[in-house]
Amino acid sequence: MPTALVWFRRDLRLHDHPPLQAAVGAGYRVVPVYIHESDDTDPWPPGAASRWWLHFSLQRHREQLRRQRSELVVRRGRPLDVLRQLLRETGAEAVYWQRRYEPATIERDRGVKEALRADGVDARSFPGALLFEPWRVRSGNDQPYRAFSPFWRACQALGEPGRPDGKARAPLPEAGLPDGLAVEDLGLLPRIPWDDGLRETWSPGEAGAEAALSAFLEEGLSRYDAHRDLPALRGTSRLSPHLHFGEISPRQAFAATRQRMAAGGAGVTSGGEKFLAELGWREFAHHVLYHNPHFPDEPLNPRFAHFPWRDDDGGLLQAWRAGRTGIPLVDAGMRELWRTGWMHNRIRMVVGSFLVKNLRLPWQWGESWFWDTLVDADLASNSLGWQWVAGSGADAAPYFRVFNPVRQAERFDPDGEYIARWVPELAALPARARRAPWEADATTLRRAGVQLGRDYPRPIVDLKRSREEALEAFQAIKNR
Ligand SMILES: Cc1cc2nc3c(=O)[nH]c(=O)nc-3n(C[C@H](O)[C@H](O)[C@H](O)COP(=O)(O)OP(=O)(O)OC[C@H]3O[C@@H](n4cnc5c(N)ncnc54)[C@H](O)[C@@H]3O)c2cc1C
Repeated sequence: MPTALVWFRRDLRLHDHPPLQAAVGAGYRVVPVYIHESDDTDPWPPGAASRWWLHFSLQRHREQLRRQRSELVVRRGRPLDVLRQLLRETGAEAVYWQRRYEPATIERDRGVKEALRADGVDARSFPGALLFEPWRVRSGNDQPYRAFSPFWRACQALGEPGRPDGKARAPLPEAGLPDGLAVEDLGLLPRIPWDDGLRETWSPGEAGAEAALSAFLEEGLSRYDAHRDLPALRGTSRLSPHLHFGEISPRQAFAATRQRMAAGGAGVTSGGEKFLAELGWREFAHHVLYHNPHFPDEPLNPRFAHFPWRDDDGGLLQAWRAGRTGIPLVDAGMRELWRTGWMHNRIRMVVGSFLVKNLRLPWQWGESWFWDTLVDADLASNSLGWQWVAGSGADAAPYFRVFNPVRQAERFDPDGEYIARWVPELAALPARARRAPWEADATTLRRAGVQLGRDYPRPIVDLKRSREEALEAFQAIKNR
């Protein structure tokens, strides 16, 4: 029986896995491989939280493969060198993998494919990470999209994504498998253990992904429309890291949602449509990145290259990162991020707007902190999110829209539950004072045992004045 290497990357699952399915379908014995690349060749090597996730996701993937008497062969090095070495060791004649869409990875994979084909190897890449390949969605005048709604309509016009495949078995080659490293050898876990909160919050791996999707469809979908903007509730799916690491395919999430919608029930149709559109935003992010390779570093709207950012951050960035800005909703979000590796979407917008507009610090600084601390850090979605916040991106918030974190708390955390959870030093204050403790009178503060500047910082900027300064700064680039 001929042998194929299936090169696993950001697709750590066995269900609905096109390369694995194709290899098994073609009658190959499969050697499942994971190659850990050195950071130097990747302009965006995974941050600390992503590395944490990857460690456990690889372990779960290996356990799954072992359950079907196979193995994940883990190696370290340059992918082309490692693949050639493994081809020699196993006598395999094919290498199959699922595509990724980060600009540097596309370039690298193209080189790998060409080199392997020149060696006479059947090297092939497959879809599976997205519902629609980014180059398939084109506007009437054959241009890539810059706005979400027409993009999503164009996706829908391509038809429903196909039904997901089931679980493919990766049969063990008769002659056994080549040696590999232990996942622990990759050194992905932090040396100083800061990861308690991540361990409490998440179950990386395919089984964890399936459980998260089922729980959301059972309990969350019917209320998604009403609850998705309320950070104190578990109103969203929390599938983002699972989708990022490919522990579940978007096609699986899409099909399961459709199925749940067909079963009916109050709120399920509107919740379902909204949720599918969120998967659409993920597609849109990849589409924009694919067509704009500099999207993670450079503003899509070139005017913003001249934006007068603050020169000297004077400790403001550090206060933002640490959740010590003195603005409770911002601090709650930043602390949730630090503790759990995740932050609610609404709060991502609030803390982003605060960094870019009230503190007038470059969006790339926020992007890079999120990159290091989010378990779902994803080049496409993170760039889209930050350029949206900054007003420089595709379908972005207009620059003059400055989120007011106090009004946002009033609307989306009316009882102050979210703030109390993450900023417990303010929990004894009534909800109104919890949102803006600097406005509370001395008696209210004293009763709650809060002394500003001692128990909780005073605001590091004045919200009103910094908003005006941001708008003035915007005038400087508006007519360029
Ligand atoms: C500044 C900023 C940075 C962000 N960085 C990331 C990131 O690095 N990785 C990431 O996955 N998302 C990012 N997002 C988008 C969004 O906040 C998260 O996808 C969402 O909060 C994940 O939670 P969930 O899985 O419960 O979402 P749900 O509401 O359950 O949505 C389902 C899925 O749809 C996708 N999705 C939802 N909203 C968006 C969106 N706005 N853009 C792209 N995809 C979306 C995600 O894959 C998500 O898992 C960012 C948003 C902002 C404003």
